[in-house]
Amino acid sequence: MVRQNGNNLFYKGRANRELCCGVRKVEPLGRALSGLDAWLTGLRRDQGMERGSIAIVEWDSAHANYKINPLANWTFEQVQEFVRDNEIPYNELHDKGYPSLGCAPCTRAIKPGEDIRAGRWWWEGDPDAKECGIHIIAPLEA
Ligand code: SF4
Repeated sequence: MVRQNGNNLFYKGRANRELCCGVRKVEPLGRALSGLDAWLTGLRRDQGMERGSIAIVEWDSAHANYKINPLANWTFEQVQEFVRDNEIPYNELHDKGYPSLGCAPCTRAIKPGEDIRAGRWWWEGDPDAKECGIHIIAPLEA
């Protein structure tokens, strides 16, 4: 991929960015989850986009297992409070304007008032396309 498209291919169009996320995130995660009954995430509804409707337990059709989102109902502020009250170690970049962290070349600090995921793939401009592809939403059927 890099030989054909260069080190910084993700800045050269969304297709290249999705190719990179596919090679470096989606495919390796798929291998890691293969054969497992369930996996846990830190997704929250307050992160917006499709995450606004996630269930605590979902069927993950992409990985053929259950995806459990125990923080689905939590807000960013509740997570911060819990981390503080329980002295849980955390990434100090969260205190420097990075509420959402991804790969270094694809993450910047946000400005006051910006959406918490505005610093991810900021050059793409589409606020509804802040996903790398590992979180495909499929609600659990009753
Ligand atoms: S977030 Fe990571 S995997 Fe996705 S385009 Fe950027 S460097 Fe590649």
